[in-house]
Amino acid sequence: MADQSFLHWPFFDDAHRVLHARLEGWAEANLQHSDHSDTDEVCRQFVVKLGKAGFLRHTAIDPDDPASTLDVRSLCLIRETLARHDGLADFAFAMQGLGTGAISLFGTAEQKSHWLPKTRAGEAISAFALTEPGSGSDVANSTMTAQLIDGEYVLNGEKTWISNAGIADVYTVFARTGDAPGAKGLSAFIVAADQVGLEIVERLDTIAPHPLARLRFTNCRIPTTALLGKSGDGFKIAMSVLDVFRSTVAAAALGFARRALDEALNQSTSRKIQGQVLFDLQMVQGHIADMAVSVDASALLTYRAAWSKDVGAPRISREAAMAKLFSTEEAQKVVDQAVQLHGGEGVRSGTMVERLYREIRALRIYEGATDVQKIIIARQTLTAFEASTASAASAASAAS
Ligand SMILES: Cc1cc2nc3c(=O)[nH]c(=O)nc-3n(C[C@H](O)[C@H](O)[C@H](O)COP(=O)(O)OP(=O)(O)OC[C@H]3O[C@@H](n4cnc5c(N)ncnc54)[C@H](O)[C@@H]3O)c2cc1C
Repeated sequence: MADQSFLHWPFFDDAHRVLHARLEGWAEANLQHSDHSDTDEVCRQFVVKLGKAGFLRHTAIDPDDPASTLDVRSLCLIRETLARHDGLADFAFAMQGLGTGAISLFGTAEQKSHWLPKTRAGEAISAFALTEPGSGSDVANSTMTAQLIDGEYVLNGEKTWISNAGIADVYTVFARTGDAPGAKGLSAFIVAADQVGLEIVERLDTIAPHPLARLRFTNCRIPTTALLGKSGDGFKIAMSVLDVFRSTVAAAALGFARRALDEALNQSTSRKIQGQVLFDLQMVQGHIADMAVSVDASALLTYRAAWSKDVGAPRISREAAMAKLFSTEEAQKVVDQAVQLHGGEGVRSGTMVERLYREIRALRIYEGATDVQKIIIARQTLTAFEASTASAASAASAAS
């Protein structure tokens, strides 16, 4: 059983501890040795099971409850726990949130009540379609268009690297509605998967397989009621959604790291070497100590970001970027150390540490690559420095 002492940190309420205990029990009962040979089918099944068990309720707001909000600590706790047990279960959960985040945050009452009850129950699968073949990190240069013609939006262009593409029932799609340059001309839309003019043109295989594909929109006509927020708000909507869900990527990385640490502890306390167990070697203890510090520091940054959002911070760009940058980079190192401590078994296909080694890699790239997080952190740090310098100067001039 992984260390759970972090649950007593002041970031959490009793409701979080209850949720965590229930999910842990569910994961023990449902996620042991699941067969991943058909990733589409296993993801569909995870969505159904997580929906039936009630965990997908946390991925979107409740359209029948005006006070309902996204609780980022719950999202993070669930992602961390699922990732520790099974990366694909975490993926299935995470995409229900990312795919509908824009509806939760910016949807009309009708948009919310049409889609969210289904995605929260595991009866519909969602996806988030922002990246294009020519623009990933550089979102402001998206070229897909949505032209208003005869009272309908007509979508043309491509989206790629779209998780759940091929199994999703609904996509949040970002496209250019105006001539305004860069970020200003983007808008967000809800597009049902069976819309005429939307097709899957290429499935993408990766080192840790999950449903991924390139989409093509050819004269795909959708009603104006599919627009999320206002025309031109697309960039703001995308960034607001990422602001919430970026911390949850950090949480998933933390789950992988925590599992890697557990695997390393099991291995190093059972593997005999030179008449003792591996753990008795001080250099091995050094590795374990480094891993434990990385895990706790990642948890502190992740749950600091989540807690900040939940207690009312309007934006947590800096906190979320720090959490994602640190947790994903550290998890890569922790997993690598766990592989090393397993020796040859560490690179044998199908072992848990080998799986973690493949699963962690993409998290350093998607929802803003590490380099992009560094830019966010540096700019926010400078802004904070300038604000504190200006306020100190004005206090000094008021006092004189
Ligand atoms: C497994 C997986 C799942 C994904 N799921 C989705 C999804 O569901 N929906 C979706 O819309 N997209 C998704 N993506 C796409 C993902 O968000 C992009 O891959 C990511 O934003 C990087 O874009 P890119 O691949 O075009 O790389 P590029 O933008 O070409 O960047 C390449 C590299 O350049 C560096 N770099 C980029 N910008 C800067 C900069 N300003 N300064 C310094 N260095 C920089 C980074 O190291 C980056 O990794 C997914 C990707 C993967 C791998």
